[in-house]
Amino acid sequence: MSLAERSSREQRLVNAAAIVDRCRKCAIGEARRNSVYGEGDPCAELMVVGEGPGETEDLLGRPFVGRAGELLDRMLLAIGLPRDQVYIANTVKCRPTFDDGQRLRNRAPDPSELANCRPYLDEQIEIIRPRVLLALGAPAAKSFLGPTFSISKQRGQWFEGPHGIPLVATFHPAYLLRMTGGELTAVKRLVWDDLKAVRAKIDVLKIDPPPAPVEQIDLFSGGD
Ligand code: URA
Repeated sequence: MSLAERSSREQRLVNAAAIVDRCRKCAIGEARRNSVYGEGDPCAELMVVGEGPGETEDLLGRPFVGRAGELLDRMLLAIGLPRDQVYIANTVKCRPTFDDGQRLRNRAPDPSELANCRPYLDEQIEIIRPRVLLALGAPAAKSFLGPTFSISKQRGQWFEGPHGIPLVATFHPAYLLRMTGGELTAVKRLVWDDLKAVRAKIDVLKIDPPPAPVEQIDLFSGGD
């Protein structure tokens, strides 16, 4: 990737993040402390898409920086991808919350929030053009693949994502953090399979197409 291309992508992402920061299409845009546009390598081979910012992300304006984020970092490192070599974003850029009477709690983004934020995510994917998209959890996967997507049945399967980019979904790290015992061991194994499939897909797509076959010339034919 040329330096010029890298800095053009960086600039486009900075401009897009500034637009997102001014966005007030949804009520959560008024309630949030910070927008969480996304971060990482603008030339990343892998783009990870989660559900939406949580409390820590809202506070810091960065994606996946709470406990789930720490686990995500370890998961990525396990397939040889340090966090700063990946691009990390969410389906929505503001923290969706509800008030339980005592405090603000996280909730899944609603359909109008997803629709309002979708152009921002699409633009991000178009700028980064990763080789592979990894959706974390059912809400992120459904936002790409529709409401009938089943995370338990269809995680680990490859789909065509936006711009024809291969897309796969796995369980959200926050889901892993809620599990214990044998259930945790079983789910960890599935996530590990999915991560290895991501690594393999990136490696296959990285291989430059083989050079066009050289036309065989028969040095000894003709000219007798
Ligand atoms: N969970 C998400 O889906 N995204 C974040 O950024 C943090 C936690």
